[in-house]
Amino acid sequence: MKRLGQAPNIAIAQLWVDMLRDQGIDANMQRYFLNGAAGDLPPDQCLPEIWVQDDTQFDRAKLAFADLQRMPQHNWVCQACGERIEGGFQQCWNCGTDMP
Ligand SMILES: [Zn+2]
Repeated sequence: MKRLGQAPNIAIAQLWVDMLRDQGIDANMQRYFLNGAAGDLPPDQCLPEIWVQDDTQFDRAKLAFADLQRMPQHNWVCQACGERIEGGFQQCWNCGTDMP
C-alpha cells in the first residue's frame, strides 16, 4: 500500500477515492477518523490522505491523482435545496440537482 497524497477535506478525499475507483484503481482514504480527536497532532496530520492498495497501480494512480488535483474546485450553492457544494462536484450531493 502506498500513499498517494493529501486531500484538503473529507468531501474531496471521498470524491477523489470514488473517481480513482471508477478508473479501476483500488484507492482508499486514511486518517480522516483523526478529525476531532487529534489532540496534540499538528493540523496537517489530521487531513485525509489517499492511499493506493495495490502497489502495481501506483504509477497510474499518480497520474490520475494529478489530474484530480488540477480539476477546478467549484464552490456553489444548490438552487433546489440550498446545500453548499464544494470540491468539484457537478451535482448536488443532497438532492442530485445539476450545477447551475
Ligand atoms: Zn440540492
